[in-house]
Amino acid sequence: MLASSGPARAGDIDTDRVIANLRALNRFGEREGGMWRTALSEADMACRAWLAGEFEALGLSVTLDGVGNLVGRDPRAARAVLLGSHSDSVPNGGWLDGALGVVYALETARTLRDAGRELGIDVVSFGDEEGAFLGCLGSASFAGRLTDVDLDAAKSRDDVRFRDAQAAAGLAGRARLSLDPGRTVAYLEAHIEQGPRLEATGVDIGIVEGIVGLRRQVVRFAGRADHAGTTPMAMRRDAAQAMFAFAAAVLAELPALASPRSVWNIGIVRVGPGAGNIVPSSAEIMIEYRDTDEAVLDRMGAAILDLVARSNGEGGVGVTAEAAGLLRPALMDRRLMRTIAEAAATVGASSVEMPSGAGHDAQNLAADVPTAMLFVPSIDGRSHDPAENTSDADIRRGARVYCETVRRILAAGGIA
Ligand SMILES: [Zn+2]
Repeated sequence: MLASSGPARAGDIDTDRVIANLRALNRFGEREGGMWRTALSEADMACRAWLAGEFEALGLSVTLDGVGNLVGRDPRAARAVLLGSHSDSVPNGGWLDGALGVVYALETARTLRDAGRELGIDVVSFGDEEGAFLGCLGSASFAGRLTDVDLDAAKSRDDVRFRDAQAAAGLAGRARLSLDPGRTVAYLEAHIEQGPRLEATGVDIGIVEGIVGLRRQVVRFAGRADHAGTTPMAMRRDAAQAMFAFAAAVLAELPALASPRSVWNIGIVRVGPGAGNIVPSSAEIMIEYRDTDEAVLDRMGAAILDLVARSNGEGGVGVTAEAAGLLRPALMDRRLMRTIAEAAATVGASSVEMPSGAGHDAQNLAADVPTAMLFVPSIDGRSHDPAENTSDADIRRGARVYCETVRRILAAGGIA
């Protein structure tokens, strides 16, 4: 589709260079097509060292902080747009998750480094977005949402302490960088969609309107263990039977309360003591639900608690609920969203507003600086897997939209 990409203008982002740098970044930690750049691993640190060289070559003053955040600041500017994402990966991950946003940031900084009269461009690759130790650890630290005590307690799934990994990576004792809202006028992150919607609808660019919040409820059922062959049905206090009835009722009630964006699942089910010939005495489920709207989450949560109250005691089974996790929704900046839409139209790309069902570093910055994200399509919606991919044409088109968005922010001297 020649018409949609248009001829390259002087000062346009060099999309050959985008593709080449994505390949260059993915030399680090590549094994048989899968990416192994988990936070603070040798590959992650080598990749950051390479990126630091690229940032320095643009004249940025570069800092690698105590949690692995790599930040390049434009030394000529007092205020700047912050561009970036993360360069760590999940174990055996794909080549674009995080890397795409970092390379777009790098190449946009190269293209526009002399375009801003008052505003500079800062670039960042956040540490441990994928949660080897804690989800979005680097951006949470950057946004001032992590204490040293949190970091002392953080451990990987294989029980490696964050502090030990930090020391092994040579970062022990380094200061942690913080977001300076007096300097940073906006944060812009590009990412692959990691879902099937853009591809299914044939739209080029997703403009993220908000990153979903998430809540979890653990519901526990307390009955009594009895012989499963000799105890009459009417005399049982079967915790699992109560649990299945409850789960069916929750799944039946939520659709009427949810928004079109809501998603939910029961991802954990446990039954004890767990033998075929014992009436279950205990059972537990975890319900997780997500939406961009806090009011919808409140509604879904209230319905779950109401059902707990109604079910409690039925069949001699006690039912209790415990909140087990919470992530607040983060709304993106409307003015920046409009700028992305205008940039997309200029480049000849179609765009649509959509929520992000996955968490991103942008979530941590959105409360303190105007923040926006754009998505490019993911082939078959695949991600966190070596099969993760985006067509060359979509990678190039996304880079043009991203760069044009930043050009507009710079030209306006901030957010109009
Ligand atoms: Zn990511």
